[in-house]
Amino acid sequence: MNLNKLIRPAVKAMKSYSSARDEFESQDKDLVFLDANENPFPNGLNRYPDPQQMQLKNKLAALKGLRPSQILCGNGSDEVLDLIFRAFCEPNEDGIITLTPTYGMYAVLANLNGIQQQCVSLTADFQIDVPAVLNAIRPNSKLLFICSPNNPSGNVMSRTAIKEILKAFKGLVVIDEAYIDFTDTESWLEDLSEHPNLVVTQTLSKAYGLAGIRLGICYATEEIIAVLNKIKPPYNINSLTQKAAISAISQRENTKQQLKTILDQRTKLIREFKKIAWIEKLYPTDANFILIRVDNANLRYEQLKNKGIIVRNRTREDGCTNCLRITVGTAEENKRLINTLNTL
Ligand SMILES: *Cc1c(COP(=O)(O)O)cnc(C)c1O
Repeated sequence: MNLNKLIRPAVKAMKSYSSARDEFESQDKDLVFLDANENPFPNGLNRYPDPQQMQLKNKLAALKGLRPSQILCGNGSDEVLDLIFRAFCEPNEDGIITLTPTYGMYAVLANLNGIQQQCVSLTADFQIDVPAVLNAIRPNSKLLFICSPNNPSGNVMSRTAIKEILKAFKGLVVIDEAYIDFTDTESWLEDLSEHPNLVVTQTLSKAYGLAGIRLGICYATEEIIAVLNKIKPPYNINSLTQKAAISAISQRENTKQQLKTILDQRTKLIREFKKIAWIEKLYPTDANFILIRVDNANLRYEQLKNKGIIVRNRTREDGCTNCLRITVGTAEENKRLINTLNTL
């Protein structure tokens, strides 16, 4: 892979915005800040946030065994993904490859940025069809998205399949690990040093219970992170988010406890789903949701909605005819779900 060839010419040529605080943030001298037109009266939030989120990145780096320079934080994974598109995909020229059914944002961002999208269907058990993927690669293919565990199917993708793709593809392989904390399988972070074209994204929105703060994280080589860093909005992670994220990463006991409960509840739900005659298939899951195939997804979705239970109807997604995606809730919520399912 030649990273220099992947970067959009406009991105290579541009200069990044130099924020008032960039050069001074890390000094702890007694400085007087008269450079950013802030209100000088302290209230905990009157100053702009650290544009490089150093305290947060140091925490993440220690947790993941990486260098802070291999980390980029975004306003949710959604911003991270958008930055990846804008750094590497030239509108009306370049293309991406997605493996469907998968997370909807890749398609939204491709459309928004004027990027061709080639969809390669996953196999019937939602694994990667490697020959089909290799066959879909074009000279203008810049990015290939692999969601593992995959949304909406819930399964982890085969390591050997991903290795083959990492070797064969000359663009960037983005592995979306939004659900990695729910599985025992290893993260691809371990493999970053081996694959210069590997990009891994994670988020605090799922297992960490912080969807509201909007923090997505991108891990890659220093070179890739430097490109994304160059184009990101200077103050994209606000002070409240940085603070909440640092605290969540420092004290993970509560999160670990909740994770255990969610996994126990997942097992219980699977057991109960198996007893329901009109649930025709349960797909194996490594995430905090379960994809089920039912007799009539539109009907069951409406029936549940009318009883106040909202699930995700995926029937129109590739390979997901009559499938519903159900998130694992609290014990009480799941009990209500099961009781309701049993009355339908
Ligand atoms: C939920 C989810 C995300 C999270 O996005 P955020 O913007 O970080 O909340 C990312 N990828 C996938 C596949 C998801 O399902």
